[in-house]
Amino acid sequence: MRPNTLYIVVPCYNEEAVLPETAKRLRSKLESLIADGAVSSGSRILFVNDGSRDATWPIIMALHRDCPLFSGVDLTRNRGHQNALLAGLMTAKERADLVISMDADLQDDIGAVDEMVAKYHDGCDIVYGVRSSRKKDTFFKRVTAEGFYRFMNALGANVVFNHADYRLMSKAALEGLAEFKEVNLFLRGIVPMIGYTTATVEYERGERFAGESKYPLKKMIAFALEGITSLSTKPIRLITALGFLIFLVSVAMLITFIAQWAMGMTVAGWASVICSVWAIGGLILLSLGVIGEYIGKIYLETKHRPRFLIREILDDEK
Ligand code: UDP
Ligand code: MG
Repeated sequence: MRPNTLYIVVPCYNEEAVLPETAKRLRSKLESLIADGAVSSGSRILFVNDGSRDATWPIIMALHRDCPLFSGVDLTRNRGHQNALLAGLMTAKERADLVISMDADLQDDIGAVDEMVAKYHDGCDIVYGVRSSRKKDTFFKRVTAEGFYRFMNALGANVVFNHADYRLMSKAALEGLAEFKEVNLFLRGIVPMIGYTTATVEYERGERFAGESKYPLKKMIAFALEGITSLSTKPIRLITALGFLIFLVSVAMLITFIAQWAMGMTVAGWASVICSVWAIGGLILLSLGVIGEYIGKIYLETKHRPRFLIREILDDEK
């Protein structure tokens, strides 16, 4: 049997409303896994406090005090879901043989954990939790989210359809992940690049148990742009192709106009001229914007800023 200390990593941002319930359910799940011998008794639930402004961290500290199964990581400030998750994964990597990440709001069905652990024991290093349906999501969320996965794949970014950040990774896979030093973090795009044997486990995505979504539309769009621009350079190529096409069209237009002039036909209409000036101006601006987006990324990457800073770790030694 493979070594089997499991860490369940849960990023939390202002989750005081759900945290006690999440902790209760995760604890009973972990206890039953330990009782079944599927994971070792050194297994833990690791909450990452992503600079919450509510009682999230005091709740985590209290959980840790009352039960050795809970540990915690406190980030120095809010860094966003992906960085918080990475902080948790990298902390767990040092202590665990297998790590499962999930959201704090109980939308990821805890029942799928058993199957993930079983797949790990079958020899898989990465097990993706995949949503079997999005019945419980609002129509808007479903359409935007599924459109996002299709759009990503069309742009050449390889993401697992309907998989968010509910997944199991072995220590080896996490060590692979640690080699990806990018600052612009989009984990679900990076994980498929690691390799190893992978599997998927289907689960039904539930409703948020309590509290509000920390991903309003603005953050969702920013996240989608982050994903596309950090995984794919296809937009740049598309713009190059578009620019070339427009150039060809303008050459064709020029030839036509010269022919018309030679035949003594007057060229009529300012409107068309103005229109094309505006169209091309717009395209140039758009192209500059996309290029700027990538240059901005390069700028950020060259700084090698830390992706997270840990204030405190609640651990057994303490
Ligand atoms: N989260 C975080 N930092 C943030 C925003 C969100 O750690 O800045 C966590 C949040 O606590 C939750 C997970 O990321 O555990 C997913 O967030 P949420 O459930 O709000 O997203 P949704 O399910 O609505 O897409
Ligand atoms: Mg959620």
